Amino acid sequence: MSEKPRLETLLAQGMGRVAVPYRDIVPPIHTATTYERAADGSYPAGRVYSRADNPTYDALEALVASMENAAAAMAFASGQAAAAAFFQALAPGDRVLAPRNMYWALRKWLLDFATSWGLAIELYDNTSLDDLATKARAGKLRAIWIETPANPTWEVTDIAGACEIAHAAGAVVAVDNTSAPLLTRPLELGADFVMHSATKYLNGHTDVVAGALAAARDDALWQRMRYVRGAGGAVLGPFEAWLLLRGMRTLHLRVARACESAAWIAQRFENHPRLAHVLYPGLASHPGHVVAKKQMRGGFGGMISLRIAGGEAAARRFSSRLEVFKVATSLGSVESLAEHRASVEGPGTLCPADLVRLSIGIEDPEDLARDIGQALEA
Ligand code: PLP
Repeated sequence: MSEKPRLETLLAQGMGRVAVPYRDIVPPIHTATTYERAADGSYPAGRVYSRADNPTYDALEALVASMENAAAAMAFASGQAAAAAFFQALAPGDRVLAPRNMYWALRKWLLDFATSWGLAIELYDNTSLDDLATKARAGKLRAIWIETPANPTWEVTDIAGACEIAHAAGAVVAVDNTSAPLLTRPLELGADFVMHSATKYLNGHTDVVAGALAAARDDALWQRMRYVRGAGGAVLGPFEAWLLLRGMRTLHLRVARACESAAWIAQRFENHPRLAHVLYPGLASHPGHVVAKKQMRGGFGGMISLRIAGGEAAARRFSSRLEVFKVATSLGSVESLAEHRASVEGPGTLCPADLVRLSIGIEDPEDLARDIGQALEA
């Protein structure tokens, strides 16, 4: 076949490589921490020590790079480690714009650790390119971080617009694409780097903590991130890398199913009298819908947030009554999860107290809708 296989084929086959000498259809797991040198002191297979790299990553990183149309990708011990590698590849004193609404633990890390390390972090309104442009002009800028759709209200940021602003200011753009893999292609929209918490959709089975970065170019900044991973040691274990590659074989099917079910559930409950709002970028009523329609392909994701009429007590009551949804933190897995975000995030949260976040899995959507319905009515 002369034509390059499409992404769904690469995903289904875990990059489709076979290993010598047995021509394994499933790649072996490489557990060695170190590799033998030749008599002349060289490393004939190009491997030295597994804190720098591991052959179990090869197909996984190639697959993430293919998925994001990237020049290169890197696996990390967690999503947080991947994000931290991006920020630590910058230099103390660099000015960075990060969204007001974003994964709370990363915002916290930026505002305490990264700030104390020397980055100048400023928050912008995720939904306003005007705010971004004004802040970009206010001083020499090194990077813009984007999360879209963003936790937990699924605000949408116009990636192409943000990239124009960043590049005009001489800054780079990195996008946390955890909530919309395959649906949003940040590098095609002009971004320079993409990050995933691979713990979520990429693995999809709630049994691996992992992260990934992908880069539009293999340049000095990317090599600096590689150095941060190797020297800082935020490496993924070989078993986790192997499991993650296995999970990714069904990514396209899981994402498609989650999108379809989430869109149906969001529409079904949009006007429910016990709900103040249904937040889902696929609904025309969502403030980010127009931009989401422009920059997302194949669906609007599997994440919905419900704002329960009656405030925090009603929201907590609702989540405690769910039976099919498991009440647990995290998202993007085969099983549906629900969470009262404000109480998980704790003091300082920006999350509305009446909000329950739903991660729609691949179960029968009627079962999920019935569960939401009974928990609202109870
Ligand atoms: N980014 C987003 C959008 C997330 O939801 C999460 C985790 O919930 C992270 C980053 C951090 O990833 P991890 O938990 O794999 O470190």
